[in-house]
Amino acid sequence: MNEHLSPEDISRWFAGERNSELERHAGECEECSARLDRMESALAEFRGSAHDWSAAQSASAPQMEWRPPARHSANRYILALASLLVLVSASAYWHSRQQTRAAEMARADALFQQVDTEISRAVPQTMEPLINLVTWGSGPTDESQNKEMR
Ligand SMILES: [Zn+2]
Repeated sequence: MNEHLSPEDISRWFAGERNSELERHAGECEECSARLDRMESALAEFRGSAHDWSAAQSASAPQMEWRPPARHSANRYILALASLLVLVSASAYWHSRQQTRAAEMARADALFQQVDTEISRAVPQTMEPLINLVTWGSGPTDESQNKEMR
């Protein structure tokens, strides 16, 4: 076999299908053995990095498995605290809102009272001549006017 190893041969080589011809050529041909070496080292590197990654994963896995309860309870604590904070701030907001509302209501009440007194005071004073004018000008009937005149 004088032909160099084809990609198919190389893939078969790394798949473990190493027949005597392939092995012989790999042993005899420097080019192909170098190629196989490079491939092997690349594969080894890949395998190593994959192993490192999986090792890192498995190393962090127990932590991950161990951590969640603590993290979960911490989350729950934070959640409870946050909801408490929201509740407190909401009630404080509601309280202040109620206070401002009460103040506003009191102010509005005072304003209404003021307006009411002004109106009730204003109507007799300014409307009296007008009311008199209206009652005098367009009295209900002549009879009533006559009755009143009498
Ligand atoms: Zn070769």
